[in-house]
Amino acid sequence: MHRDFLSFPFDVTPVAGALARVAPGVRWLRFPLPFALDHINLWLIEEADGYALVDTGYGDATTRDLWEGVLAVLERPLTRIVLTHAHPDHIGNAAWLAQRFGIPVYASLGEYLWAHAMRDNGAGHGATSMANYFRRHGLDAVRADAQETRGNVYARGVPELPRSFLRLIDGDTLELGGRSWEVIAGYGHSAEHLAFYCAQDEVLISGDMLLPRISTNVSAPLNMPQEDAVTRYLTSVARFAALPENTLVLPSHGRPFRGAALRVRQLAAHHEARCGELVAALTQPKSAAELLPVLFPRELDRHQLMFAMGEAIAHLNHLAARGLIRPVADEGDVLRFEKTAALRPLVE
Ligand SMILES: [Zn+2]
Repeated sequence: MHRDFLSFPFDVTPVAGALARVAPGVRWLRFPLPFALDHINLWLIEEADGYALVDTGYGDATTRDLWEGVLAVLERPLTRIVLTHAHPDHIGNAAWLAQRFGIPVYASLGEYLWAHAMRDNGAGHGATSMANYFRRHGLDAVRADAQETRGNVYARGVPELPRSFLRLIDGDTLELGGRSWEVIAGYGHSAEHLAFYCAQDEVLISGDMLLPRISTNVSAPLNMPQEDAVTRYLTSVARFAALPENTLVLPSHGRPFRGAALRVRQLAAHHEARCGELVAALTQPKSAAELLPVLFPRELDRHQLMFAMGEAIAHLNHLAARGLIRPVADEGDVLRFEKTAALRPLVE
């Protein structure tokens, strides 16, 4: 049987800081975010002596105030922290909570190290490097300068990081709340994202890798400028499509849903459509910045522009990896992409 729509078993979303039961032993906690993407879902898993927490919220005062309220009603302590990935809305309070309860943090090596690189401007990171990367991809001076003057946006949402962690890798089994959760690594959105699948209850904590309404941001990071993040992402989520039809997906943004396989098909079609639109727009060589209106017809704020550039470059890299387009640098060293000879006969 093929599901042809996504189903959302919970009509009501919990208000900020409230708890709702969504699966055996799993509670849903929703916190606000200071971005256009205005909320994040966290998951509390009941254990014998407290609650394991999956992701921690953005590390600002608003979220920490809400955390105080949640911790007051929880009555039992947090037992450990499990991170899907290192983006600020997920890792922002990990060190703060871990220190407070004296509990371990579980994460992938890729995310843990990437977090430090982003926070400390290591491994090629930093606002100036980011702005230069976007300039190379054709972003105008005004918008590139605006990215540069934002400074270290990552550090603002991640005031501190755990000094040590317990490493998880793909295929590991994590025992949480008396149940076994299979660790599923995924790529294209972040360095080494982890999702968690409980076969006993058919529950998938998908993190940012599978979201019901918006497509996960896939980006070519500034220190891997030729990364084909689209292929990485689609290859990763194909594994979710193979899970049982009835699997309840607990995403980091949006409502819990059923229909993982359908969602994966929708997303594959979405990225293929974006690629088609990009190729159609390449009537002459164009840069990622010149192609932004093709992918994102709406007005973008500075925060969205950062993701949009990463996403545009990732799609262009993907088309280049398929041999359909290729980059050419102009005298100013700005990269533009043109259709390859292989493609020309196919297009009017
Ligand atoms: Zn993320």
